[in-house]
Amino acid sequence: MRERCADAMSIFGKYGAPNLFITFMANPKWPEITENLRPSEYTTDRPDLLVRVFNLKLKSVMDDLTVHGVLGKSIAHVYTIEFQKCRLPHAHILIVLRSDDKFSASEHIDKCVCAEIPSSIENPRMHEIVTKCLMHGPCGIENPGAPCMEAGQCKKIFPREFRTETTMNMSGYPLYRRRPGDTAFVRGREMDNRFVAPYSPYLLPKYNAHISVEVCTSLRAVKYIYKGFDCSNMILTAGQVQYNEIANYIDARYVSAPEAMWRLLGNTRMTDLMQ
Ligand SMILES: [Zn+2]
Repeated sequence: MRERCADAMSIFGKYGAPNLFITFMANPKWPEITENLRPSEYTTDRPDLLVRVFNLKLKSVMDDLTVHGVLGKSIAHVYTIEFQKCRLPHAHILIVLRSDDKFSASEHIDKCVCAEIPSSIENPRMHEIVTKCLMHGPCGIENPGAPCMEAGQCKKIFPREFRTETTMNMSGYPLYRRRPGDTAFVRGREMDNRFVAPYSPYLLPKYNAHISVEVCTSLRAVKYIYKGFDCSNMILTAGQVQYNEIANYIDARYVSAPEAMWRLLGNTRMTDLMQ
């Protein structure tokens, strides 16, 4: 993974920092999965089905981004596949755009990326997908035990502020337009545009999944996508063996059923680099 990260850095050294950071996560409710479950089966019973469908959809997403250039003409890209925490496969994708397509104006960003809940009347399907797949939280004071909370603060900096127009930020990520508007009840709480993960209005309805799209200008995202695998501390105990606390702790890598199936099906590459 460290070598892959070094390879990616040399690609970005040659072509420039990535302009788009996309996270695409499998949706266990995709009809291609649910229509092929046997009676009484759940998606968790069929990691084979889950990863096969995810693989096909990921290929289609990469075609849209790098061949058809739906968010701009790509000149280099990298992606990594992860199966962490929620155990659903997801891909982190970084794209470098050709200079004519780089995001230099707020109007250009607003055409490609949105961070608002679509109207439930004018666009009910998009409203449903955004409120099901792209709302962050609840976290903060109302849910201090949320996984994104660290030292009393949300690590992802939600809720964001309302703002009437998109502006560029020194951190490398824009501050997206988030006007007061539609709200939705999500996980027992009324949420507004301050909790929406940014998305592409073209990609979201096409893939009906968590597919967040961030415009970026720095190399910070590279370190994030090459952060490595999940590990777990395991304790092995045996009947009459004298207990040895140190010897019984093994620092082991955790492999979930979908990840095991991903590799069994021959998808050995967990990262991809292209220039
Ligand atoms: Zn949070």
